[in-house]
Amino acid sequence: MSSAGSSPRIKAPGDASSPALSILQQEIANCAICDSMKPWRRFGPAASGTADTGYLLVGEAPGHVSWKQGRRFTGPAGLLIRRSLARLAHPRFRDLEDLFYMTDTVKCHPAARANPAANRSPRRAEIRACAGHLRRELAILKPSVVVTFGKAAEQAVAEAIGQEAGLQGLVRLVTFPHPSPRNRRTILQAYPSMDAFELAIAGTFRRLITRLERGRHDA
Ligand code: SF4
Repeated sequence: MSSAGSSPRIKAPGDASSPALSILQQEIANCAICDSMKPWRRFGPAASGTADTGYLLVGEAPGHVSWKQGRRFTGPAGLLIRRSLARLAHPRFRDLEDLFYMTDTVKCHPAARANPAANRSPRRAEIRACAGHLRRELAILKPSVVVTFGKAAEQAVAEAIGQEAGLQGLVRLVTFPHPSPRNRRTILQAYPSMDAFELAIAGTFRRLITRLERGRHDA
């Protein structure tokens, strides 16, 4: 994670420093609801990035590569997102950890049965089981903007916002297709090329950084 430069530190509108976030992180760390998951294959709080910007990034699930490295978004799909931010070459927001609090629709790595090192999509039951965690993250962080990657994350966040009266109308949702190479066909239905997809993500990141630099948290 890169360190802050000369820009002022900006606090999120939510209570990011509240003990409530630490308590929730601890509860997630101890959760073992899903027999089908590998609960020990989840990220610890240290991999979450920053809660100070008021921006939340929601992926589908911890991928095997990222989990092994102990750093989010470092598999092939995640690196595409990181490259998008790196394109900006911003001196302060060099890594996703500088710009976002990061979480997933499900907090544990959904391993394929035949190959524990492979990724599979989370099942509906697993997403339902973990929905309360996501909802509480949103309620505590009160992000001004949530960026999602993949349908599962988009739907889970939209549902969570719909259930939290305190968030409705206050959170701007920015959605992208899942950046996995396996999702290339779907991505290319929405963007003329993979490079255009990366540029679109970079454009969103640039706008988010501009808002921070102007000291605004409104959507
Ligand atoms: S996916 Fe979520 S609900 Fe299921 S065991 Fe992991 S933390 Fe618990």
